[in-house]
This record gives sequence, structure tokens and C-alpha cells, in this order.
Amino acid sequence: MSSLQEFLNTRLADRRAQQLYRQHKILAAAPGPLAVVDGRELITFSSNDYLGLASHPEVIAAQQRGALLGAGATASHLVNGHFDIHQQLQHKIAEVTGREAALLFGSGYMANVGAINALVGRGDFVVQDKLNHASLIDGGRISGAQYLRFAHNDLHGLERQLRRAREKSDGKILLAVDGVYSMDGDTAHLAEMAALCDRFDAWLMVDEAHGFGVMGSDAFPCAGSAAAAGLDQQSAPIVMGTLGKAAGNGGAFIAGSQALIDYLTQFARTYIYTTGMPPAVAAGCLRALELMQQEPLRETLQQRIAYFRQRATALALPLENSTSAIQPLVLGCEKTVLGVAEQLQQAGYLVGAIRPPTVPAGTARLRITLSATHSQAQIDGLLQALVAALKSSEVAV
Ligand code: PMP
Repeated sequence: MSSLQEFLNTRLADRRAQQLYRQHKILAAAPGPLAVVDGRELITFSSNDYLGLASHPEVIAAQQRGALLGAGATASHLVNGHFDIHQQLQHKIAEVTGREAALLFGSGYMANVGAINALVGRGDFVVQDKLNHASLIDGGRISGAQYLRFAHNDLHGLERQLRRAREKSDGKILLAVDGVYSMDGDTAHLAEMAALCDRFDAWLMVDEAHGFGVMGSDAFPCAGSAAAAGLDQQSAPIVMGTLGKAAGNGGAFIAGSQALIDYLTQFARTYIYTTGMPPAVAAGCLRALELMQQEPLRETLQQRIAYFRQRATALALPLENSTSAIQPLVLGCEKTVLGVAEQLQQAGYLVGAIRPPTVPAGTARLRITLSATHSQAQIDGLLQALVAALKSSEVAV
């Protein structure tokens, strides 16, 4: 039997040898779209602050005022930690998402794990896309429900799994998917999935981590990918959204019917047994959501996405099928991805080098993310630096 120290050293050495060792980039500040790293200002294309709200002066001012309510919530929401500002934020989320009600969670990870575990358990089924976010996967595994997967966005595979589940049980089936895939940027086929859920009497849960604030319908322009696919509370009854991405802050929510929210308040363990969201965060998020509604941030982001895709296509860069703010460049090899990211950093651009196990083996990639705060000149600059870095790494474009 190895000692703890031996075990740790061996595992860490393996990670390094496989080029999979992860390291923090230490930021001194991040006034979007910039990040200050090692005393140097870089233009960041690796943040999830899609609308630039993390550094919006009005959000920061609201958050500062919110801190006067108390630096922390002082207890869990159901004990002594639920403030008027939390109520206001929940109402605003319900309004933006077009749902009856919403419930705040400490993070998207906790919201996914808590909701899935509250809704299904032993004897039930949870069906998931193979590329789902780790928090949905972990929530499904922990729940004790039988876990069925289907190939990414494969509607036939999904249908097979739903039929299989329905043949085995007349109990609960939960279909959980990312609305926008965090490492690929593509969207789930939500309208077709909702129709399949209807046919097999399954419940659809959509993770809007990367859709909320970025896309939506005419009536609910910032609600996310489910609204963009024409789904409402009836057809997409369980929506999870994070406040750490387009809202530029931290925390998350589940939105849905009043009954769903009442139920999760009673049964979601990651809601009940944890300290409430700091009131200052709730105040900052509330202002961010008001700005999402009032300012044309989403439209500006959509213009930047279109511009990036048009320019990158002209340069023959191998883009993925993504209309979201996430525009990955799959290069395959871990070492190449690290090398290109390093060269981009030297040229003044911060881009995420994403490797397994976050993405499947052989699909290491640069995860380029766009923000409403990027200028066209910054996008041009990134693409120029990218072409140079790919050439010097001998990647054919
Ligand atoms: N779902 C998806 C699709 C995500 O990308 C993330 C964040 N990486 C989460 C959930 C978790 O959200 P949070 O960061 O708020 O925990």
C-alpha cells in the first residue's frame, strides 16, 4: 500500500507527463475585456463575461451598496439568510426567463446537483447527452436513478434511450441537457427533445449556463436557448441558469412553475444546507439583469460573434457549428493547444487551452469566447495572432 504522499506524487507526475496538468493564471484584475496577468494587460478571449457586466460601473456600484446590507447572508436561506434583495432578484429572474418563479443557488454546479437529486432517485431514470456539463453528470450519478446516455445531440439515440426507460418503468424520467454546450458552443436540439419528452412522458431540464443573457425569443430575449427554440414553461419545465457568466457575477438559479420552486425549496439539499448568497452579490446581479433588459448588450454580442465568424471563415480557420459566444478551435493534440495558447499570450491575448478530461481525448481545443465589450479591432488582432501561432506550430489552416 502506498503512502498518501506517494499516491499524490504519482498522480501529479502522470498528469504532467500527459500534458494535462492544470495551472491557475493569476489575475490582478479583469476590467473586461482585459485581464492583468503578471503586471501585463492582456485582451481576454477566455472569459464567460459575455456581456461585460462583471465590470459594468452600475453593477459594481449596486454591489457596493448591497454590501451595506451585510457582507454575508449570515445563514442558509431557510434559516436567517434570505433578504429582501434575494426576493427581488428571484422575481427579476422569473420575469427575464418567462417563468412563474425562481430559486437562487450558490452556483450552477449546486443548482444542477440539487435539482436532479430532488427530482429523481432510485427506480427512476435520468437521460443525458454525453457532452453534458460535469455538474449534470454528477447530479445524475449521485441521484441513484438509472443513468442513460446518448451521443451528442443524437435525436435517434435519445429516442432509443427514452423508449428503453419507458419500457422498463412507468415512473419518472428526467432528460437533462446543456442548452448551449460549454466546450463546443453548439445548441441542443431542444424543440425536438421537448417533443420526445412529450411522447415518452419525460421531464426536460435545460442548463442555460451559456444561453441565459445571450439568446432568447422576441418576448424573452435574454431567457436562453429554450426560449430561442420556442419552448415555454410547459415544454421546458426545469431551467437552470448561472449568474457567473452573462450576468458577470456568481451564483445560479432554477426557474419554473411556482410548484417546482416550492418543491425545490423543500427538497433540494444543495439549497437547504448551505449559506445563502451574499446580499451584495444579489444586489449586483439584480442590476446586471436590469441592464440586460434595458441595454442592447445582447445585440452587440451577436454582432461580435457574427464578425468573428465571418473573419475567421475568410482566414479558413476550422470553426465549429456555433452561433453562441463560445467559438472553439479544435486542434486535437494537447501539446499543440498549449503551445498555441502560450504564443497567443505572448502576443497579448488570453485564450483557454482546453484538454481532456474536460473534453474527449483527441479533441483538445482553444476555447475562444466573445464578449459585447470586444472591439472589432481586438477581434482582428486575435485572429492575426492566431494565424501566426498556428503557422509557427505547423498546424495547417
Ligand atoms: N453548467 C454548465 C454548462 C457550465 O458551463 C457551468 C460552468 N462551467 C456550470 C453548469 C456550473 O456553473 P457555476 O460555474 O455557476 O457552478
